[in-house]
Amino acid sequence: MVPSRYNIIIPTKDKKPSYFIYNTFSDSQAEIGSDVLSLLEPGHKIEAKKKEKILAKYAGDLNELGFLVKSRSDEDQAVKDWFFQKQNDQDELQITVLPTYDCNLRCVYCFQSDLDHPEKSASIGKKTILRLAEWAGERMDSTHPKRLLLLFYGGEPLLRKREILVLSALISDEARKRAVEMEIKIITNGTLLNPDFVNSLLPFGIKSVKITIDGTKDHHDQLRVKQKGKETFDLIVDNLLKTKDKLRFVVGSNYNLENFESIPRLFDYLIEIGLRDSISKVNFRPIFQGGNNYNCDVCSFSESDPSIQFWLYEEAQKRGLNTMDLLALGPCGFHKRDAYTIDPAGKVYKCEGLVGIEGAEMGDLYTKDIEEKASDFIARFDCFGKCGECKYLPICGGGCRYWAYVKTGDFFGVACEQKYFDFAVKEIIPKNN
Ligand code: SF4
Ligand code: SF4
Repeated sequence: MVPSRYNIIIPTKDKKPSYFIYNTFSDSQAEIGSDVLSLLEPGHKIEAKKKEKILAKYAGDLNELGFLVKSRSDEDQAVKDWFFQKQNDQDELQITVLPTYDCNLRCVYCFQSDLDHPEKSASIGKKTILRLAEWAGERMDSTHPKRLLLLFYGGEPLLRKREILVLSALISDEARKRAVEMEIKIITNGTLLNPDFVNSLLPFGIKSVKITIDGTKDHHDQLRVKQKGKETFDLIVDNLLKTKDKLRFVVGSNYNLENFESIPRLFDYLIEIGLRDSISKVNFRPIFQGGNNYNCDVCSFSESDPSIQFWLYEEAQKRGLNTMDLLALGPCGFHKRDAYTIDPAGKVYKCEGLVGIEGAEMGDLYTKDIEEKASDFIARFDCFGKCGECKYLPICGGGCRYWAYVKTGDFFGVACEQKYFDFAVKEIIPKNN
């Protein structure tokens, strides 16, 4: 037996030497003494007889928890098999649609608003809508999923409500014919959300929307403004109150050094006005130079001070609000074969972070063998080759492809999150034990 590659050992602050151990592959955690540590860390001088005794006592448990493994090659294979299974899990088909690149806000940190993007005001047309519905049916026939998640994102998707309704109705029909359960989610800035629109989508399976509020009104209204600088906080909150009985909300907040302290006060305010039961989750992401071109829960946290992320996490927990898992950034949606993002022109991408990046599209709605193309595309990012023996691989997966592009110019490069994880494990594991 040999120690797992994925053990993280953190000394406790107790007087008697003891350690927390966490395994990023098995997700096991435990507190151990220096005798057990001698089995798990190289370089400990220990008599053979004593070692045998400790092994006899603990080896079974340590093996069951994944801290000791039969051999490194067995463990390497097990991790690769697990990864492969995750990539090829066919239970859920995920289709993200950008009905438009256009947006009615000019958030001060949105780098997209500064770009002279030729397709910036492009919206999805009738022909693309019809083909996309048919294409969704073909994907269901090909992979036989149990569920279909249809996610709308943009630009601001609610600038194209009619297109969203038509597409939802058509795809819901395709799903119903194949007895596939469908759920709709929307990522919106919240300014155009209203009860009539939500009512029209209820029969097709809308359950939640994600909106963004960047702290209390004074802060939010400096960051997320309409085109002529008009404020949006009151409008968004009013729309949440009007739709709260029909929907659950994920409230995302982008933060910088100026507004982060106001985010817990925002939580207090949302609770005070009666939104607690409608909020399924809150999450927060640092604002970067370079833009936030996507809206996944995960992000590059190594670029900012992780202690802010942890402070916000604790403030959310104190208020009983669900929030993201700080020890699981990956493997993200990029690695799932049956997850696609479609832009307004019908180009097909692996995930929303890659939309618009030259050379990142896998094809369009007429490309043959798209499942095979998706498998080939994700295989091109070989995180086992690129990240080598990194202990965090099972909870990272090599970082975000969009961030790799921003940092290295190559979306198959590595956006390393080691700095964040080194901090995160020391913060979280001792508190869990
Ligand atoms: S690669 Fe980045 S943008 Fe794409 S799914 Fe993963 S976290 Fe999201
Ligand atoms: S990106 Fe960095 S932290 Fe993530 S698995 Fe690769 S080497 Fe490890």
